[in-house]
Amino acid sequence: MRSCGDCTACCEGWLSAKELEMWAGKACKHRTKVGCGIYADRPERPCKIFQCGWLNGTLPEDESFKPNQCGAIVLTDRKQAGWAVWRVVPVGRSVPKATLEKIAILAGERQQPFVWSERLENFAEEPWSTSTFAMGPEAFLTDTKWDFGEEDVWDLS
Ligand code: SF4
Ligand code: SF4
Repeated sequence: MRSCGDCTACCEGWLSAKELEMWAGKACKHRTKVGCGIYADRPERPCKIFQCGWLNGTLPEDESFKPNQCGAIVLTDRKQAGWAVWRVVPVGRSVPKATLEKIAILAGERQQPFVWSERLENFAEEPWSTSTFAMGPEAFLTDTKWDFGEEDVWDLS
């Protein structure tokens, strides 16, 4: 049985939740040094229902895929041009290269399209600004050709 344990990546301000005053670069207002300050009373949405791709079992159980270890939160319920995609959000400025490679191998085995973002150089001043890249089978790339720059997509076939 997987559990978040010492990971608090989704409370740290890499994802956004207006009601928690959490957005890129700003942690949830309830986060403390030792975890959630309102854990028993945390809201149903997003806190109780949110499960990243490691917690929901999409990614291998190996803890090296856990967000606080691998430096990325994988969202597995996203859509892009009608395709079910994984959205890989960096815990920090960018997804570590080793993590991206591991995810690409996994996605390749499953022919699973995925997109990932990278925060820009001036992350400290504009943490919300990102560039987005994609990898997927040829049909996915055809369907999303207007969504990404030509140099920002990779064929997973
Ligand atoms: S990022 Fe995933 S493993 Fe980490 S606290 Fe959130 S749901 Fe749990
Ligand atoms: S309320 Fe608690 S569980 Fe929810 S995002 Fe904030 S710190 Fe995390």
